[in-house]
Amino acid sequence: MDHQSALNEIWQNIQPAIGRGKVASYIPELASVSPNHFGMAVVGLDGRVAMVGDACTRFSIQSISKLFALVMALRSEGDSLWQRVGREPSGTPFNSLIQLESEQGKPRNPFINAGALVVTDILCSRHLNPEMALVEFLRKLSDEPTIEYNLAVSQSERATCDRNAAMAHFIRSFGNLHNPVEQVLDTYCRHCAVEMSCVELARAVSFLAHHGRNPWSDEVLLTQSLAKRINALMLTCGTYDSAGDFAFRVGLPAKSGVGGGIVALIPNECGICVWSPALEESGNSHAGSLALEMFTSLTGRSVF
Ligand code: GLU
Repeated sequence: MDHQSALNEIWQNIQPAIGRGKVASYIPELASVSPNHFGMAVVGLDGRVAMVGDACTRFSIQSISKLFALVMALRSEGDSLWQRVGREPSGTPFNSLIQLESEQGKPRNPFINAGALVVTDILCSRHLNPEMALVEFLRKLSDEPTIEYNLAVSQSERATCDRNAAMAHFIRSFGNLHNPVEQVLDTYCRHCAVEMSCVELARAVSFLAHHGRNPWSDEVLLTQSLAKRINALMLTCGTYDSAGDFAFRVGLPAKSGVGGGIVALIPNECGICVWSPALEESGNSHAGSLALEMFTSLTGRSVF
């Protein structure tokens, strides 16, 4: 079945699942988003775009930013990054502090908040204006110059991010954060507050389906080996503490965020993004996870 036919069929069947779950409310500004949105886009490596529902509406990418921040940090640090961040699933919630003490401030992986704070610290060391460096990278990847972060969302998270602040101070006490905590938190909250649509994100993630090369310009964004590693991390750590169940159900490398977005990809074929703000207990979009499961079942495609 082709991508657009699969999306049409998903649209027919997903309706009862839309709105089931809870919209993230611990960041006050996110609580007002309607749970009833649903959008999905698939961008093929041949440039063809399939979409359905609210696929062109921008939403808060939240932890999906961790994927692109990691790509930027790996581009500058290469494999030495792994001296500061691990690559194992944590088996704990995304904002947990519990392993940091016994593991001397080295976060388990770059997709939990602790790991993303270290990655953000690397970007703060490498860029004069790190929050805009990420925005510019995303503009380039999606070929969309109007991408921005939402100031109200970033300020709302920044004003309430005591837990991330505690984590950042703790990591710094082990010497694994080099810049001032305040600067790292400002940057991190702005990265999380970037807004993009499903079409823009599906396009932005496509290079990971193309061995690290931009499918349209052929620019090498990551070596084939680093692209493989990022895909492996997405599969094992990209969907919170239910990555095992997600791999079982969907079978694709993916990264989700509490704004209700999930990006995924099929190697050599396409980038995918789905968005529906109501979340399962795990933090993944309920309708989004189901839609991706339907997509791989209908198309018979996965990485396995
Ligand atoms: N800005 C959110 C936080 O740090 C991101 C969480 C997420 O999307 O997983 O809590």
